[in-house]
Amino acid sequence: MKLSLPNAAHYAFFFDIDGTLAPLAAQPEDVTIAPEVRENLERLAARCEGALALVSGRTIQQLDALVAPLTLPLAAVHGAECRNLQGEITRNALPADTAASLTAELERAVDLLAGSRLENKGMAFALHYRQAPWHQRTIEQLAQFLASRFPELVVQPGKCVVELKPRTVNKGAAIETLMQQPPFAGRTPVFLGDDDTDEAGFQRVNAMKGISVKVGEGKSVAQQRLTDVDAVHRWLAQLLTGSSLQDAAALRSHN
Ligand SMILES: [Mg+2]
Repeated sequence: MKLSLPNAAHYAFFFDIDGTLAPLAAQPEDVTIAPEVRENLERLAARCEGALALVSGRTIQQLDALVAPLTLPLAAVHGAECRNLQGEITRNALPADTAASLTAELERAVDLLAGSRLENKGMAFALHYRQAPWHQRTIEQLAQFLASRFPELVVQPGKCVVELKPRTVNKGAAIETLMQQPPFAGRTPVFLGDDDTDEAGFQRVNAMKGISVKVGEGKSVAQQRLTDVDAVHRWLAQLLTGSSLQDAAALRSHN
């Protein structure tokens, strides 16, 4: 399948951020996107008439800050809050009492688990344990316990993080929603991600006969693979020069 720039109009691009466009950091707020990568995203977005979205567990606010001054279509919080190219925002809110009681319980728990951190996204809750990996099992059990008490929520494990998010929300559904709207509609989706949360996206993109790309090691349903974040940056740069990424075979050669 050709993926050269003369055909960029045929593609819609979806990028995860952490571990895909940006290296992971000790704290999520320490993550940055290199200026040249941001510029390449802007150039690629221009080439595909704006059919380029970020698909991340982060909030809209965090994603905007990461790519500023760019304003891109977003599937934030794994798709719980989305913003299309036209700037329209849709949110999957939790009932206020559910959010309040979960917040209280999770705050109590992280107080007892030194080194762990709660990130409250309003409708999703991330328990980070990168600074305290010995708490992994306790945190996973806590998340499972809470998901059994709040059936509208589901557990989403990630790299040194366990999240509770609305059951109906996943990156695959978010990509599909964006793909139904202009300028995404009618194009072939290309999705790059690195973590368990991206698997739902890969699955949906495969079903749409798109191109799914897993970044890094690990089992995945993605069809293609790039070694690491640096390989993603090289792929992006070469896609823009139009010289080397011509097809799936070229993608593999960057591993
Ligand atoms: Mg990631």
